[in-house]
Amino acid sequence: MPSDAPTDATTDVPAEAAEFDFRQLLEIEQRQLQSELSELGFGEKGGLDYDPNFADSSQVTAERGEAEALAGQLKESLDEIDQALARLENGTYGRCEVCGVAIQPARLEAMPASRFCIDHANRS
Ligand SMILES: [Zn+2]
Repeated sequence: MPSDAPTDATTDVPAEAAEFDFRQLLEIEQRQLQSELSELGFGEKGGLDYDPNFADSSQVTAERGEAEALAGQLKESLDEIDQALARLENGTYGRCEVCGVAIQPARLEAMPASRFCIDHANRS
């Protein structure tokens, strides 16, 4: 892949979502979430890998509850990324699930897994 683009290349390329590599963006985020999950002790299988011998300490129980709450959020984000990757596959990526308009590229770059346009983002 040539890294030095020709100087006479046109610079007014359309600002379409396809131009941005959302798949790569989603995969990077996916890997990041997965590593955060495994740091919390939640592996690929989704179970918490902890030693039941420590479970009778209330502090550990509290920490475990926090870890589970955080892991739940991470898993939700992972689910959304999975769905976004599936939408990339079937060609519906980047469209609002409510009204079907194309989501602004800037919004997708900030939140590649977003499923709604800015108008519908806050009504789920
Ligand atoms: Zn919408």
